[in-house]
Amino acid sequence: MALIKCKECGKEVSSLAKNCPNCGAPIMVMKKVKVHFWRKKKFGGSAITGSVFIDGQHIGIAHNGCEFDVYLPVGNHTISTETTMNQYGTGGKGDSRNIQIQENMHQVNIELIPKSTFLTGGWAYLAIKDVIVL
Ligand SMILES: [Zn+2]
Repeated sequence: MALIKCKECGKEVSSLAKNCPNCGAPIMVMKKVKVHFWRKKKFGGSAITGSVFIDGQHIGIAHNGCEFDVYLPVGNHTISTETTMNQYGTGGKGDSRNIQIQENMHQVNIELIPKSTFLTGGWAYLAIKDVIVL
């Protein structure tokens, strides 16, 4: 257990508390997470880009080999990608994974729980390679 500051009232609260005992605000423990992307393909090539979504919210554009650092509250999340269509008709599809972040995780490679990989006719897409809680 650690003591963290309530972001509403600033009082110290147990990180295990669901709500601040002082003001009642919900306590969310945030973890720094590194997400690594790569190009999954049937044929050669290396360039691919795509949009990245966490819990349905667009957080940016990634490319093959790219890494993102994000802060996420402890709990369950969905990471997904949507690959940009290129001149070869590759893209328009992506990868989607569920992850479970626990408070006691430190330097842990999170298991990527398959949600869906949707391929609709192309040969390459921006995939989620690994997710590490720092
Ligand atoms: Zn509070």
